[in-house]
Amino acid sequence: MDPTQIICPKCGAINSVSSNFCQACGKQLREIPLSTSVAKQLGIYLLSFFLPPLGLMPGIKYLRVHDSKANIVGLIAIILTIISIILTFWTFSGLINSYTKLLGSQLGGGF
Ligand SMILES: [Zn+2]
Repeated sequence: MDPTQIICPKCGAINSVSSNFCQACGKQLREIPLSTSVAKQLGIYLLSFFLPPLGLMPGIKYLRVHDSKANIVGLIAIILTIISIILTFWTFSGLINSYTKLLGSQLGGGF
């Protein structure tokens, strides 16, 4: 077998080894490497931190591929998501607490 060629497991068409999808039927021939460029990483981290639920999707996607560098990116994205959620709850409960105290003092310290 020619090492520069890959045979599609679905339709048997011969494709170049560098192609991600079969040219005949469109079947995915190999795992598409995920970008781990600094810009891409930064985008994922920002997404994870500022829009916590959305950051989980690329995080899980990056964790599932067989690429240790991408796995680290995914792990950081998920950790950032968790930190962001904790911070949100912490800030929110802090606000509720101070509001409750304010309300309490306005009512003369109790009922
Ligand atoms: Zn095919």
